[in-house]
Amino acid sequence: MQTSDLFNLDFSYLSLPDTFHSLVMPSALDKPELLLFNRQLADELTLNLPDAEDAKSILSQLGDFSKSYAQAYAGHQFGHFANLGDGRAIMIGEHITKDQNRFDIQIKGSGRTDYSRRGDGRATLKAMLREYLISEAMHHLKISSSRSLAVINTNETVYRETVHQGAALLRVMKSHIRVGTFEYASHLGSLEDLKALTIYTIKRLYPEIELDNKAAIHLLKRVMIAQIELVVNWMRVGFIHGVMNTDNSAISGETFDYGPCAFMNAYNPSTVFSSIDQNRRYAYGNQPKIIKWNLACFAEALLPIIDENKQKSIELAQEVIDDFDVIWNHKYYEMMLGKVGIKSNNSDHWELIDELLRLMQNHKMDYTNTFLALSKEVGSETKALQSDFFSPWMEKRKRILDSLNSNEDARQLMKANNPVFIPRNHLVEEALDQAIKGDMSTYLELIDVLSRPYNYQDNRELFLKPSATTFEENYQTFCGT
Ligand code: AMP
Ligand code: MG
Repeated sequence: MQTSDLFNLDFSYLSLPDTFHSLVMPSALDKPELLLFNRQLADELTLNLPDAEDAKSILSQLGDFSKSYAQAYAGHQFGHFANLGDGRAIMIGEHITKDQNRFDIQIKGSGRTDYSRRGDGRATLKAMLREYLISEAMHHLKISSSRSLAVINTNETVYRETVHQGAALLRVMKSHIRVGTFEYASHLGSLEDLKALTIYTIKRLYPEIELDNKAAIHLLKRVMIAQIELVVNWMRVGFIHGVMNTDNSAISGETFDYGPCAFMNAYNPSTVFSSIDQNRRYAYGNQPKIIKWNLACFAEALLPIIDENKQKSIELAQEVIDDFDVIWNHKYYEMMLGKVGIKSNNSDHWELIDELLRLMQNHKMDYTNTFLALSKEVGSETKALQSDFFSPWMEKRKRILDSLNSNEDARQLMKANNPVFIPRNHLVEEALDQAIKGDMSTYLELIDVLSRPYNYQDNRELFLKPSATTFEENYQTFCGT
């Protein structure tokens, strides 16, 4: 059996004009060895896999792909337009599951492509283990995300700031088409290219949209809603993507490109961990503003096909983007009120959330554990919630809650919205450091804890604790290693 036999491959993306891809084979990996395999995901995808031993032998010889390719795209990186493309990832095709769902299967870290520029096309073992861990954690947190099917260890030496061991990741996603793919078509391709991409994307991701003269504007609206729902969910769990460039915003509304991402501990909207984000552009609290900006880039890319009249196109696109703030506020506050057990989308109650966040920021309270203390009366913030500075807020919350929903409804809402366990930065780093030295036990335990993040798990208090402040102050994440 060969690697491609695992999948039921189709290549619909290759029906787009040639400008959208370049055919490329993954370069041979030196002594590849399957290190991690996501059996649960393999089953969800209905892969043709008799047993785990098969996975080991099949995935240890990546490289027999008939039509593998790299995708072309552009994007705004930290606000600046750049022509990009898959520089270190190769698509081996689209897997069609037994119930007819379509997923891109990509190898990340598989060698250079036409779009590698000065990069080596490789990835480090640590970064691929990190992506596997966080993407799977996000999935179990019930946040739309790319998935990780396998990490393949190689004998490759990868040079970054120091010498690293190389690895490849098998990434699975509904689609890797991004805002940047549309920017590429619009700014560097022809009108026909942009039309073809729009029709293809609608058929693949939003088939309910009719292909009439309003299709582009409907696509813009649908993507805006999908992205708002996604980023609201990031805010819910304290996730900081870290590099929300337009090439990392998926049209499908999935989280992807886990480079310098991290989770916030003490609540502070200006939290940033990424070493390259000097101006805090992608700070936790900026994420709504940035996704709106990215959606404006998407709208701009669609302008040539929204209407034949340029001015009319601008007006129609602007109308959609102008709705962002209203929709954002409703979805964001509804979610935040859910975190404190209140089922309401009445804007009269929004102030309760703003006040809570001010208290949390002023008292440097742990974001996850504040809600945990509120819903389960456990964790590091239990005491703070009983202190004088918090009691007026608690009383106000109780009054609203009692007037709106039952305690049982509140309990259910809080359970659904508040994770007990998130990937704590210091635990992630510790697990990765041990894993790259060859001891996978801590890493696997962390994966296990994070596979049930909404359930309290006995004897796992260690995983609830935020790190020492000094760790957080000095913690830095790195992009694309
Ligand atoms: P990212 O910051 O991961 O979104 O990457 C931005 C662009 O740089 C994408 O086009 C990547 O494919 C490319 N890139 C990142 N790392 C490498 C690498 N080691 N070799 C080649 N291209 C890379
Ligand atoms: Mg990227």
